[in-house]
Amino acid sequence: MSLDSLNTLTIKGARGLLDTKKISALDLTRACLRRIEEVDQKIKACLLVCESAALEEARQADKRLAAGEKGPLLGIPYLAKDILLTKGLNTTAASKILEDYIAPYDATVIEKLKAAGAILLGKTNLDEFAHGASTENSAYGPTKNPWDLSRVPGGSSGGSAAAVASDLCLFALGTDTGGSIRQPASFCNLVGLKPSYGRVSRFGLMAMTSSTDVIGPLTKTVADAALVLEVIAGDDDLDATTLKNSVENYSELLEGDMKGLKIGWPKEYFTKDLDKNILALMLSAKEELIKQGAEIIEISLPNTPYTVPVYYIITPSEISSNLARFDGVGWGLNHGQAEDLQSFYKQNRGQGFGPEVKRRIMLGTYALSAGYFEAYYKKALAVRTLIINDFAAAFKQVDLILTPTTPHPAFKLGEQVDDPLAMYLEDIYVTGASLSGLPALSLPAGFINKLPIGLQLIGPKLSEILVMRVANNLEKINNYYKLKANL
Ligand code: GLN
Repeated sequence: MSLDSLNTLTIKGARGLLDTKKISALDLTRACLRRIEEVDQKIKACLLVCESAALEEARQADKRLAAGEKGPLLGIPYLAKDILLTKGLNTTAASKILEDYIAPYDATVIEKLKAAGAILLGKTNLDEFAHGASTENSAYGPTKNPWDLSRVPGGSSGGSAAAVASDLCLFALGTDTGGSIRQPASFCNLVGLKPSYGRVSRFGLMAMTSSTDVIGPLTKTVADAALVLEVIAGDDDLDATTLKNSVENYSELLEGDMKGLKIGWPKEYFTKDLDKNILALMLSAKEELIKQGAEIIEISLPNTPYTVPVYYIITPSEISSNLARFDGVGWGLNHGQAEDLQSFYKQNRGQGFGPEVKRRIMLGTYALSAGYFEAYYKKALAVRTLIINDFAAAFKQVDLILTPTTPHPAFKLGEQVDDPLAMYLEDIYVTGASLSGLPALSLPAGFINKLPIGLQLIGPKLSEILVMRVANNLEKINNYYKLKANL
């Protein structure tokens, strides 16, 4: 393999070559940096590239490798969504309000990756504060889908997805509040894993919706997702919502057959409105699962029609509270002198936040205000419990649930950026698992008119290993990950 194309490797592939000293972390890092230099002007996945720091980290990793150290991500270059704090580096959340913000410390996930010897190449683009499904809400311009540059990569982790799909790095970190890892994975032919709520520390992640935010990997393969999760998962004193359960050796537990496994086919996700091409791909996955000995059982998640409405009340409510801190005093853009406090807020927040962020702050403030709180926020919380109960009842019948990830392949840039409702409906299949805190993974499931599309597997809380095992079995059969965007 030529040194120039090392960036196309999977983590697992690179691991073998690094451990047998056939390549160095420096070679690998240089190949990624070269690729970024060559193609990122077309895709615009990166908001920041830290070349010299990455090369230095690679040299350090090579020293550790030379000393015989082993580790799943030692010497592996990656990119992180720019909503994760990275000490000493600009961290913008793709917002003007944080244009000059330098993070004073590392997020726990970044710290864990550093300790594991992974190499941070830079930061990726996103919808401002992760509000969106196309990366068009970035204050720094949209990212393009490597499979078709006239289309969106999905969002909000669109920069991370486009980066992995065009081999700028071996993996990327995304965040998923209501689909933001899974949906871009579906649009870019990648594996996107949203771990159970609390499985990965959110310390140092700028809060969007604290009750659903989760950090997870975007990778080329399922085995790679397992390797990343192994490193980033776990309890953290700095995030009280993290789960105490010990972290499994996911990458060693991936093998296993599917005989006797019961897989749910929720009828509310497979309505007559579902795109015929997507249905066909879901049916072929279903056939494969049956061939492998799994049983497919039709189930009902009756409150599914309420997931998007509930999500779009709870999410803006939490956002309106979480984003209050960007007031120009503690954090955020500060234009200095103003006549009074109202004008001070207006000039900083008015100019610092983009239209979608403002829309959500207003929606959330409204839903939480006296007189409307009971009718909107409290009602949404009650229905959220019904949605959680639906999943709990389903998991008494089945081990996992299979659904599409997205209602269609990647749409055109600009096509629906002015239609918030259309954009919110992109999340129709992904918000249920978010509201319920369940692990869910998007796996490449095929192509429609040369555009990739994913399937989603949802499992009970902390069943990451089962979700990944089934995805790994399907991946071995379909091998879609081997198909690459032509750039
Ligand atoms: N599309 C969802 C939203 O706009 C996803 C956000 C996310 O997961 N960060 O809220």
